[in-house]
Amino acid sequence: MSSAENPVSRDDFDRYMVPNYAPVDFIPVRGQGSRVIDQSGRELIDFAGGIAVNSLGHAHPLLVQALTEQAGKLWHVSNVFTNEPALRLAKKLVEATFAERVFFANSGAEANEAAFKLARRFAAERFGADKYEIIAASESFHGRTLFTVNVGGQPKYSDGFGPKIAGIRHVPFNDIAALKEAISAKTCAVVLEPVQGEGGVLPAQRDYLQAARELCDQHQALLVFDEVQSGMGRCGELFAYMHYGVTPDILTSAKSLGAGFPIGAMLTKAEIAGHLKVGTHGTTYGGNPLACAVALKTLDIINTPEVLSGIKAKHQQFKARLQQMAEQYRIFSEIRGMGLLIGAQLTADWKGRARDLVKAAAEDGLMLLQAGPDVLRFTPSLIIPDADIDEGLARLEKTLSRQD
Ligand SMILES: *Cc1c(COP(=O)(O)O)cnc(C)c1O
Repeated sequence: MSSAENPVSRDDFDRYMVPNYAPVDFIPVRGQGSRVIDQSGRELIDFAGGIAVNSLGHAHPLLVQALTEQAGKLWHVSNVFTNEPALRLAKKLVEATFAERVFFANSGAEANEAAFKLARRFAAERFGADKYEIIAASESFHGRTLFTVNVGGQPKYSDGFGPKIAGIRHVPFNDIAALKEAISAKTCAVVLEPVQGEGGVLPAQRDYLQAARELCDQHQALLVFDEVQSGMGRCGELFAYMHYGVTPDILTSAKSLGAGFPIGAMLTKAEIAGHLKVGTHGTTYGGNPLACAVALKTLDIINTPEVLSGIKAKHQQFKARLQQMAEQYRIFSEIRGMGLLIGAQLTADWKGRARDLVKAAAEDGLMLLQAGPDVLRFTPSLIIPDADIDEGLARLEKTLSRQD
């Protein structure tokens, strides 16, 4: 059926869809690079990148080619069989990181679910049934399944769904003393985002991650880095742990990994992986050939010196102009983040207005994100052209100049 025969509008969202989202008024229909066209033919610049997902923009020719080539060969076989794209991707991820083994899932939450289950299984088998406590950070975000909202440090996402999962403790982020106080022989894992994304784009301090590593070693707990948002080049290195020089035992990836095709991955060492024996965990779609073919090409493109150094240069381009706007409009108190995961903290005068600004920017042709009520978040394509950064920031400035 052609789109002319089956017209849809934003109103249909409220008519037919579960109301757990509140999408903006326009409907994007296609994209090219960092530009998106909506139903009315209006062009927008994309600084949202599908929430840090479209790591190579829209319709990247090499990704379209990888996907369509695989689409003509084999879509799905399940994990009763393995497949070439999954094996190639696992091999590449192992070669590029600390990891020796990979488990594929379909989203960040599922990658984390696997990580948390593995951490508990590992501890139970190695050290006994009492070692099950997971320590995570306040304001952290790890996904929306029941286990992952409970590990996440934002009660607004975990309240109201019946009894909470037992054995999870939260400590303030970047607070070494609090972590030291909380960790014990009962701890099976410490779970951290090297840069808290949803929590407001808050980078960890290096000494905090180093201390977490040492405390985990002392207490025979696993260090889990949730790099669903910070990884795959987003922070200017392939994974943020490389920037910090602190190596986790388990790392999760998703978002930018598939560049827009759903995939998640859990990476770990062979010794730990061995505790997810046949039958202990699984997923029907995990390691799907289409997803893995796209992620493989994405990894090939991102993990090059040119692209990674480009991300750092683009960070500077964003930061310089945002700092200018901060001074001129007295709107941002801090520009923070790494690579192309950038947060602009609103000043007290603008408190709570991030969502209004995101909406207003869309009217000026800019797709933008918030990270909580007081932070604007910028997570564009990792290869966004410099000219599109300038144009998008000019549109943001227009938005700011017409606020009162
Ligand atoms: C987005 C995100 C998740 C959840 O990923 P989904 O693909 O939405 O399940 C988990 N952890 C972090 C750090 C994220 O940013």
